[in-house]
Amino acid sequence: MQRNIYFFQEAAAPDPFILGGKGANLAIMTQIGLPIPKGFTITTQSCMVYLKDPNFFEQVLSNQVLKAVAALEELTQKNFKQSTDENLLLVSVRSGAPFSMPGMMDTILNLGLNDARVLLLAKKTNLAFAFDCYRRLLQMFADVVYHIPKENFNLLLKKAEDDFQQTCQQFSLQQHQVVIEQFKAIYQKQGLQFPQDPVDQLFAAIKAVFQSWNNQRAKVYRQLHKISDTLGSAVNVQEMVFGNSGLTSATGVVFTRNPATGEKGLFGEYLLNAQGEDVVAGIRTPENIHHLQTQLPKAYQELLHYTQLLEKHYRDMQDIEFTIEEGKLYLLQTRNGKRTAKAQIQICYDLVQEQMIDKKEALRRIKVDDLEQLLHPTFEANALNKTQAFAKGLPASPGAASGIITFTAKEAQQLASLGHKVILLREETSPEDIEGMIASQAIVTSHGGMTSHAAVVARGMGMCCVTGCEALHIDEQTKTVQCGDLILKQGDIISVDGTTGLIYQGELPCTMVNHDQILSQILLWADEIATVKVRANAETPQDIQNALDFNATGIGLARTEHMFFNKNRILTMRKLILADNFDERNKALAKLQHYQEADFKQMYQLVQDKPMIIRLLDPPLHEFLPNTAHELEELAQDLAVDIAYLKQKIAKLQEKNPMLGHRGCRLAISHPEIYQMQVRAIFNSVITLRKSGINIVPEIMIPLIAEANELSYIRQQIEATIHKIFAENHIQPFEYQIGTMLELPRACLKADTLTPYADFFSFGTNDLTQMTYGFSRDDIAKFIHFYHEKAILTFDPFQKLDCDGVGKLMQIAIQHIRSIAKQKTIGVCGEVGGDPDSIFFLQQIGVDYVSCSPYRIPCARLAAAKARL
Ligand code: ADP
Ligand code: MG
Ligand code: MG
Repeated sequence: MQRNIYFFQEAAAPDPFILGGKGANLAIMTQIGLPIPKGFTITTQSCMVYLKDPNFFEQVLSNQVLKAVAALEELTQKNFKQSTDENLLLVSVRSGAPFSMPGMMDTILNLGLNDARVLLLAKKTNLAFAFDCYRRLLQMFADVVYHIPKENFNLLLKKAEDDFQQTCQQFSLQQHQVVIEQFKAIYQKQGLQFPQDPVDQLFAAIKAVFQSWNNQRAKVYRQLHKISDTLGSAVNVQEMVFGNSGLTSATGVVFTRNPATGEKGLFGEYLLNAQGEDVVAGIRTPENIHHLQTQLPKAYQELLHYTQLLEKHYRDMQDIEFTIEEGKLYLLQTRNGKRTAKAQIQICYDLVQEQMIDKKEALRRIKVDDLEQLLHPTFEANALNKTQAFAKGLPASPGAASGIITFTAKEAQQLASLGHKVILLREETSPEDIEGMIASQAIVTSHGGMTSHAAVVARGMGMCCVTGCEALHIDEQTKTVQCGDLILKQGDIISVDGTTGLIYQGELPCTMVNHDQILSQILLWADEIATVKVRANAETPQDIQNALDFNATGIGLARTEHMFFNKNRILTMRKLILADNFDERNKALAKLQHYQEADFKQMYQLVQDKPMIIRLLDPPLHEFLPNTAHELEELAQDLAVDIAYLKQKIAKLQEKNPMLGHRGCRLAISHPEIYQMQVRAIFNSVITLRKSGINIVPEIMIPLIAEANELSYIRQQIEATIHKIFAENHIQPFEYQIGTMLELPRACLKADTLTPYADFFSFGTNDLTQMTYGFSRDDIAKFIHFYHEKAILTFDPFQKLDCDGVGKLMQIAIQHIRSIAKQKTIGVCGEVGGDPDSIFFLQQIGVDYVSCSPYRIPCARLAAAKARL
């Protein structure tokens, strides 16, 4: 029979899928001898069985729980049920899913207190402490079991303090009891009752924690983090220890390394004389963990020791909850800490240096998403220099974002759905705010520390966040925020810098460039492992420079059409297209050649002897034609023809399906002089640069080939031109390559016939996808969401390679090519280059390199390594 309950000390090889993450780690920590309050775990399966059939609880589980409680009483030498025994056992009931979902599910502390037992506790400790515990129990129980908002209780307590004119620390017994009766009245108003019997409390709490698996915020969180709904949550029942029993007691959260930056060393916060969630909830702003060294030195030293031990054991940065009861340290939880992408990279790098993990493990741990996050926006330095921040909080999660301010999660969601960029401003966030947080660009809180709910959740999502910005006085009612003399209202724009914690008025411009030393090093590790190389799609000097800075091994695709679009050039291009006679046409060609030569020279100077594939002109001619009446007039004047005639000529060039029309190599067949001009420009620039000692091997690529005869004809034309150039310059021929794109299904199917005429191949996955699905890539956005809604397609084939269809064509082509020519390079240029799944497939089918836009290079390099791990 399946076991439903395990004590911490007994589960061999604790499994988070059975015990939940929290339970498994409590078992491990107990077993390696750390100071853990005693307890047991009810399995995740019990949760799922109960959720399907509530009778399971009374019929099966309740008896087993009672037995476990008796065993816990034995183990702790304390009593859970009796109202006469001073040796009280109080417990916490803690949820714990297989994957950590911070704050998403429920926990109740101090279970086992009631009207009689609170007096026993008071006798043993003190009045204020005992009633603090009891009030918390009443409050949490109401929240978790009956969904009565906690605020009701807080307001009551505040009012009682006002009425009695003293703090609850100073209340008399009668005053405490008055408040307790008022707390109970909140239950009664709803026809409910707080159970006095500890066992009833325990059963209700366990069921409620089971049920919290299905609460709205937990569901949303699971969806966001792709966690299965069928895992269920375990329940941990654990002896209470008290961080709220005086000034030698405390509770806190520490990370073994800084979760925002990754810096090594204890990082965290604590509160003296506090319990449980006080630190995370952001109600009081906590103290820096380093103060503990002077406040409770012995406990601090122990903490330092155990946290290091835990890090060694798990070989990863740990997020640890602890409580100190009258000077004695207890650990209550450990898990691999959530962290920013920047921290993840720093930590993995350091762990390799410290020989805790190897490079492969580091590469396994760093996700491609982490890199995307790391290439986060930052505000332009120039703009920052000119602006003064109006507030500063804690830099809880890096990034930079601007948007309109809003004060509730709900409004954030509404405004975002209307297309606004919003910044969510709260005193503190709570798990209910999750949907609004997702919809925001950044989160700012006035209370709470680096481990508050807002900070943890934002870091998990890679979202910019500033917490504990105490200068902000947020008024949710009037929807204003005051900071000194400055008053901002809902809808005003602010800019938030999560890296510095600074907040500015108005919108600041962002940049994306981020060349991190550590990242570069890790990517070099990736290059050592990867077999698929990474090139860039780039043609402007800026893009090429970026690509080289990101360590591209070359340029996989330099398009030439963009080079014709500036004002002078396009006019010349138009003249070329519309010219009536040879003479005019040649004049235009000469001019264009001159422009292109300068372009190519500049590009080669940057790229030097790395490979660079220049693709000859691809788009249909009409893309270059005038659009406005003014442009038309200008052109007519320039060409000295009348407008009507010009219009007629242009109309003739229009096509029904330009993407399937007169473009790519088809242009070279009707107008060979255009490619000839481009080849001249390429070779002239190469000849000049080779003289200065750069060993360039020009690579020229012909687009949109479907048929071998197209390629052989164009190759012949180009080679004739090249030989002419060599002869005219009286130079020894040097090596060059002429290759083709594979971007039409027919080219893939007939790749064997192309192979004799191509020195290299490059799959253009954008066009190949377009031509294989018959989806126009310029129009797909209009209907793809219907496909997604109806689960007809679950992905966008322009972003993630369609391995089954498009990929199959690629496979056929590669087999054809390799059967004839083993050595010819086969690459891929297209947006899928930075996508890990696509790269995995491309490596499998034997592609030599992928070429993607410069900013995707780091991701592609990592993905290429991951494909080999
Ligand atoms: P979460 O998963 O939301 O962090 P936890 O189950 O960890 O919820 O509990 C919430 C808070 O209560 C934590 O700060 C934890 O340290 C504290 N806590 C839980 N169990 C005990 C206990 N037995 N004694 C003292 N504090 C506890
Ligand atoms: Mg909780
Ligand atoms: Mg916890």
